[in-house]
Amino acid sequence: MRVLLQTLGCRLNEAELETWSREFQALGYAITETPETADLVVVNTCAVTDEAVRKSRKLMNRARRGNPDAKLVVSGCHSSLEHAAGRAIPGVDLVVDNRHKERLVQIARERLDLPAAASPLDPGAQSLFARGRQRAFVKVQDGCRHRCTFCIVTLARGEERSRPPEAVAEEIQRLCAQGVQEAVLAGVHLGGYGRDIGSSLEQLIRYLLRQTKLPRLRLGAVEPWGLSEGFWGLFDNPRLMPHLHLPLQSGSDAILKRMARRCKAEEFLRLTEQARAAHPDFNLSTDIIAGFPGETEADWQATLDLVRAAGFGHLHIFGFSARPGTPAAELSGPIPADLIKARSRELHGLGEALKRAAFERFVGRTFPVLLENRGGDQRWGGYTPNFLRVALAAGADLENRILPLRLTRVNAAGDAAIARITPDISG
Ligand code: SF4
Repeated sequence: MRVLLQTLGCRLNEAELETWSREFQALGYAITETPETADLVVVNTCAVTDEAVRKSRKLMNRARRGNPDAKLVVSGCHSSLEHAAGRAIPGVDLVVDNRHKERLVQIARERLDLPAAASPLDPGAQSLFARGRQRAFVKVQDGCRHRCTFCIVTLARGEERSRPPEAVAEEIQRLCAQGVQEAVLAGVHLGGYGRDIGSSLEQLIRYLLRQTKLPRLRLGAVEPWGLSEGFWGLFDNPRLMPHLHLPLQSGSDAILKRMARRCKAEEFLRLTEQARAAHPDFNLSTDIIAGFPGETEADWQATLDLVRAAGFGHLHIFGFSARPGTPAAELSGPIPADLIKARSRELHGLGEALKRAAFERFVGRTFPVLLENRGGDQRWGGYTPNFLRVALAAGADLENRILPLRLTRVNAAGDAAIARITPDISG
């Protein structure tokens, strides 16, 4: 039985795909790369923007056209919302909505009567990750109790639920035994971890650093509120990577209020100062929505000013797209499409300048870099602990090696640092 697994969207979707891959392989099913060679196709969909919905549909159609005989199972936010609205998705054999996706492999076997395989695949023989990545995405939490007005995810993923820390530690230990050196904790509202089980994100991180031998623990996106007193002290541990993706969305308090965000501009800036006080190399990235309904020129300037002041190393920029079913889709004062584009372009320009400045700041320094894959230019690519992309020219096979690399310059595109191997890590 050959299974094709496809996803788009967030790290949580990626983490779920990796878990399904291990579960199918443990049943003795092989993972394949094309619909033509698959007996079963699983698509983990996304609904965060119009574009994501369009791409989800494209993936499902391509799977259907690529092999009409293969069984097609879909899950994720887009298919869950369609299912909840009672809208059938053409050509799909089974929809597993978000509430049940932990049991997708079992449900697919039962409902599609999939054959038992001869023997489980030896864990050592299992392929772990797609696309040459060496970092594991580990799901620790799902759902969100907040209701940001633009957010469809909170509607598609339901209430907050946390995985027990023991189960997360066990998964990470298994990954370590398979040679994984870095894991990224993923959730919908990671900062809400543990609220339903009498724990917290801080407690989880302390527990994982104590219980596992994982060399590098990284955090997925964390909303900029509700972080415990001791959170920043966690970064004293060199195994916890000094990088955070803190979604800001807007730098204007008026717009943050219309978004029902729980963090004001000033509070956000204070968080960036706490991060840099916690670790001198701390690197921050963020999400910004350009063109939210009612966004005046003054609101936009406030966003540009705060982005400049925060000195982000990377920006994810989204032109506002109204998601049906969200309060923001009903808000007054829609921004014309060409103005949304113009603001996105302006922010892109600022983002690139800040990114280059972030790289320049670390030229001459040496960091332990986890090398993951070879790029089109045949250079090895990987990330520093503070999530700077690094490129290294080297002939040897360095896949999944952590090496001390000195950043020598920023590449022409300004999106990676060129590095060379140094004898030690003192620089
Ligand atoms: S906190 Fe995040 S996941 Fe929750 S509603 Fe807001 S944007 Fe959506």
